[in-house]
Amino acid sequence: MSRVGIMGGTFDPIHFGHLSAAEQARVRFGLERVIFVPNGQPPHKKSYPVTPAEHRYNMVRLAIGSHPDFDTSRMEMDRPGPSYAVDTVRALREELGGGVELYFITGADAIAEILTWRAPEELAESCDFIAVTRPGYDLRPLQSVTDSLPGARVHLLDAVGVDISSTEVRARVERGESLRYLAPTPVVRYITTHELYVS
Ligand code: ATP
Ligand code: MG
Repeated sequence: MSRVGIMGGTFDPIHFGHLSAAEQARVRFGLERVIFVPNGQPPHKKSYPVTPAEHRYNMVRLAIGSHPDFDTSRMEMDRPGPSYAVDTVRALREELGGGVELYFITGADAIAEILTWRAPEELAESCDFIAVTRPGYDLRPLQSVTDSLPGARVHLLDAVGVDISSTEVRARVERGESLRYLAPTPVVRYITTHELYVS
C-alpha cells in the first residue's frame, strides 16, 4: 500500500513551518507524496480578510518549487462553498483508489479542532492523522480526539519545530519587517510584487 499525505490549510501565506512539518511527516511515515490543499473559503470564520485563493495557491506552488514529492491541488478552491476536509479526503480517495492510504497532516494546534470539523467520524474512518508536535507538547488536546473518536488513527510526530505562523508573517509585512528565512524566497518576492498584507 502506498501512502499519500494531505496538508490542508489556508496558507495565507505558506511558510517554512508548513514545509518543514510536511517534509518531516513525509520522511517519517514513508509518504510517497504530500499534497498541499489550499482551502477556498475557510469554514471557520477568520478574524481577518483572507487573501484570494488564487494568490495563496500561487504561493504554495512557488514554495514547493522542484520538490519531487510535493504537490498541490486546486480541489478545495475550485469547489464552491466552504472547504471541508471530509469532502477533500473523499474526493482524493475516489481519484487515487483503494490501494492508497491517506494521511491527513495537521499541526499540534489543529488536531483538537478536528472534532469541530464537519463529519469527524467519517473523516476519521477515511484517513489516518499525523499530528505534528514537539517533544514535551501537552498531549491533552490529542487525548480529547481519541476519546471522542475511539476508532481514529492518530499518529504523533515529534518534529523539529519551526515556530512561525502565517499571522506572524502578515504582521511582519504590515510592519515593514524582513521575511527572509521565514518563507521561501520566491514566496517573499510574490508577496512584495503583489503588495499582499499591506493595508
Ligand atoms: P494562521 O496564523 O493564519 O492561522 P497558520 O500559520 O496556522 O496560519 P494555516 O494555514 O492555518 O497556517 O495552517 C495549516 C496547517 O499547518 C495546520 O494544520 C497548522 O496546524 C499547520 N501549521 C501551521 N504553522 C505550523 C508550524 N509552524 N509548524 C507545524 N505546523 C504548522
Ligand atoms: Mg492556523
